[in-house]
Amino acid sequence: MAVLFISDLHLEESRPQISALLLRLLNGPARDADALYILGDLFEFWIGDDVLTETARQVAEGIRRLSDSGVPCYFMHGNRDFLIGTSFTELAGLELLPETLVIDLYGEPTLVLHGDTLCTDDVEYQAFRKQVRNPDWQAMFLAQSVESRLNIAQQARDASKQHTAGASMEIMDVNQKAVIAAFQDHDVNRMIHGHTHRPAFHKHVLDDGSEARRTVLADWYENGSVLWVSEAGQSEQSLEVTDQD
Ligand code: MN
Repeated sequence: MAVLFISDLHLEESRPQISALLLRLLNGPARDADALYILGDLFEFWIGDDVLTETARQVAEGIRRLSDSGVPCYFMHGNRDFLIGTSFTELAGLELLPETLVIDLYGEPTLVLHGDTLCTDDVEYQAFRKQVRNPDWQAMFLAQSVESRLNIAQQARDASKQHTAGASMEIMDVNQKAVIAAFQDHDVNRMIHGHTHRPAFHKHVLDDGSEARRTVLADWYENGSVLWVSEAGQSEQSLEVTDQD
């Protein structure tokens, strides 16, 4: 048995083959899992639970079937889909998690998070994050018409693209001090996150001299990727888009 971790799928109507990959995972291999964790950015953008695309509906149904089959499914907000609310998570049979959480992974306390909070060098992004995670801002946004919400979301995506193109690779990555602090603040030596789209397995040395391990999940832009963690260890599985998708 294993616990599955995925993140950064960035699902949207224009990339149906990626949604199909996810549905294949949900209907197939994930049925044997002990749990599924989605660590944010399941969707490319989210303007409210009252506006469900066909993609969102299919994904919700797929996750719901998995969850109904007895596999607990968990979701954590990313920086794109932070407006996903309890209407959607209930529809999908998902349990909504806080932005950081320590889970017991076969006896090893493991910190799971989306990962954007570790990118502290990106001052501009952190200011944006603070604004849009404010409940007053969210209430104001959700009260607008669908049309104006779509416009604001498009503007935010354009601004994000420009920012990403202009900022250096270092600024967009995690800050090493923030990583060490996260391990130590949560008293763990293992961490799993996504967000940076730089899949890797990192080792760190904490202030007490102990070794800590950090796994960064891959995005689903070209293909899918799943981290399988079992008692025996962990491995990354790539899911290839086929002609059937
Ligand atoms: Mn992200």
